[in-house]
Amino acid sequence: MTGFEHVAANLREIRARITAACEARVGAARETPAAVQLVAVSKTHPAEAVIAALEAGQRVFGENRVQEAAAKFPALRASHPDLKLHLIGPLQTNKVRLAVETCDAIQTLDRDKLAEALAAELAKQGKRLDLFVQVNTGEEPQKSGIAPGALDRFVAQCRDEFGLTLAGLMAIPPEDDDVALHAALLTKLAARNDLAAVSIGMSGDFEPAIQFGATHVRVGTAIFGARVAQEV
Ligand SMILES: *Cc1c(COP(=O)(O)O)cnc(C)c1O
Repeated sequence: MTGFEHVAANLREIRARITAACEARVGAARETPAAVQLVAVSKTHPAEAVIAALEAGQRVFGENRVQEAAAKFPALRASHPDLKLHLIGPLQTNKVRLAVETCDAIQTLDRDKLAEALAAELAKQGKRLDLFVQVNTGEEPQKSGIAPGALDRFVAQCRDEFGLTLAGLMAIPPEDDDVALHAALLTKLAARNDLAAVSIGMSGDFEPAIQFGATHVRVGTAIFGARVAQEV
């Protein structure tokens, strides 16, 4: 795939760095299962970039907009049925049907109305998705996510009231904070709620995130290069 040779080279390098970071896990993160899932964040990048990653063996991808995911991925899935797509951006309830049709995982479950809508849509489509509750570990007022202090109650509500099976937790820490603190907190909150998956860490900080407990890292720029268009 000409013009996208960097994707395979970047993936090789990142996989090696992930392996090294797994071996450098500390504290409670040592109990994390061996493998870390690399979610290749392809938002704003063309299908050709995703194809280059598929050809390099990558199977798990992340998109932050349902419509972009729905435009790009169904055709790719036809040729690669084992492809997995994670929604990592905010989800409006009016896009829940399309999100459930298009994605395998939703990492941004952040309110009860969305939990209720997802439960209804999953039942309707007879599907099971990996659901991650987004936690606002930095307690930033402008950021979505459940506050750490309200998490246990929200997890219980998702399970008991809506009958949802949850896979794990996800966080986007404040830009200038040390990711290690947030990864350690998210790992602790996940263990306390009997959740295996911990999604934290991006291009600039996935190694310390893994050292402190991440099981899923979401890496875009370091694989595909700089994004030209829209941001989150
Ligand atoms: C875009 C995005 C990423 C990837 O960020 P990079 O710095 O390009 O690796 C990770 N997580 C979320 C939620 C994103 O929106």
